[in-house]
Amino acid sequence: MNPMTCRRAVELLIDYVSDELSVEERLLLESHFQKCPPCLIYLQSYQVTIKLTRQLPREAPIPAEMECRLLDVLKAAQTAEQAARMQPPP
Ligand SMILES: [Zn+2]
Repeated sequence: MNPMTCRRAVELLIDYVSDELSVEERLLLESHFQKCPPCLIYLQSYQVTIKLTRQLPREAPIPAEMECRLLDVLKAAQTAEQAARMQPPP
């Protein structure tokens, strides 16, 4: 199996939070998070975003305050992703 890279970790993130990864992929991803803080931050930001999104009532407009918080979270996630990309390959 290919070694887990930041790029791969970000790609698998959606499946990870949706609980759709195989056990092997999940373990690889979790061990990557343990040694790669930017990816861990990205994961946490992603989970917060999902949590906030799920709290919204369906078809209701997003309250301005919530939108600001979401944007902050997304911004933090993007920063973490950029930091991860700038890391030299292992
Ligand atoms: Zn990483």
